[in-house]
Amino acid sequence: QRLSDQIAAGEVIERPSSVIKELVENAIDAKATEIDITFSEGGLKQIVVSDNGLGIAADDLSLAFKRHATSKITTTDDLFNILTLGFRGEALSSIAAVSKVEIVTNTGETKGIKAKVQEGMIKSQEPAAAKRGTQVIVSDLFFNTPARLKYLKSQKTEIAKMIDVVNQLALSYPDLSFRLFNGSKRLSQTTGDGDLKKNIANIYGRQISQKMIPFSSENMDFEISGYLSLPEMTRSNRNYISILLNGRFIKNYQLSRSIISGYGSKLMVGRFPVVVLNIKMDANLVDVNVHPTKQEVRLSKEAQLKELIEQTFKQTLAKNNL
Ligand code: ADP
Ligand code: MG
Repeated sequence: QRLSDQIAAGEVIERPSSVIKELVENAIDAKATEIDITFSEGGLKQIVVSDNGLGIAADDLSLAFKRHATSKITTTDDLFNILTLGFRGEALSSIAAVSKVEIVTNTGETKGIKAKVQEGMIKSQEPAAAKRGTQVIVSDLFFNTPARLKYLKSQKTEIAKMIDVVNQLALSYPDLSFRLFNGSKRLSQTTGDGDLKKNIANIYGRQISQKMIPFSSENMDFEISGYLSLPEMTRSNRNYISILLNGRFIKNYQLSRSIISGYGSKLMVGRFPVVVLNIKMDANLVDVNVHPTKQEVRLSKEAQLKELIEQTFKQTLAKNNL
């Protein structure tokens, strides 16, 4: 373990928000419907993610912390048909390499278990009363990597990044209920009732969501849908453009370019719309295995997708006489 885990951790776990992203993705993959996230001292003292998902069986617990151990794919073919958010088996081992981890989990069949993980190894494991689901407690993040600690920004910036990550995940999953706490103070909450517009209101506020209109269209290969803001509702940066590909929040400059082209001259220079764009496509046409953080993707038929997005945005804005 040690060296290779530390190296992987450097790529996967850049900052406190990366811990939240990976743990929440695991909760989503475990079919949780309620996910609570709590942090203290900008995430460096503690991050706790609790879910009501499937839990981990006692026998699988040590495997879960081994690098490259994933229960989500088994063959190389699976790698080209990824239906879960995780598949690299790197998150838990990476987190455990740079923090102190405790996990409480229960599959619902027997009593739960509680384990302490140090230096990536399970140090103790005992029965514990727990509801079905999993709680991961990450303490003293980067305590053993002082260089990484130094590179972090102010608490305020790290908190903003954690809020961004939770917002992205909550926007991607309107059917799930998310709650984010700074200590005992609740920062945000979504209801999980499946209504994307209400979800946008919960996350960005009603002032923004009121000025957003729905769109949807499809062609042979892609289905796109979501909400776009009226050209009067803009922001000074691209952070409010969310692109979700098969439920995964992705970063893709080309696709955000097509969104902006769709607005054309309706958008003032230096202003960006608020958009939630859901793309559904055959998982075989996406390669997610590009980067350890899994936010970059390579798309087959990217040009066709760009065209569909630009045209749909143009038409939706025109239909609304904008
Ligand atoms: P990956 O998500 O890529 O499979 P991780 O290191 O994130 O790798 O997790 C390792 C394994 O631990 C997962 O494949 C899964 O079986 C299990 N696991 C992790 N978190 C949870 C959770 N919250 N609920 C149930 N199982 C989990
Ligand atoms: Mg994972």
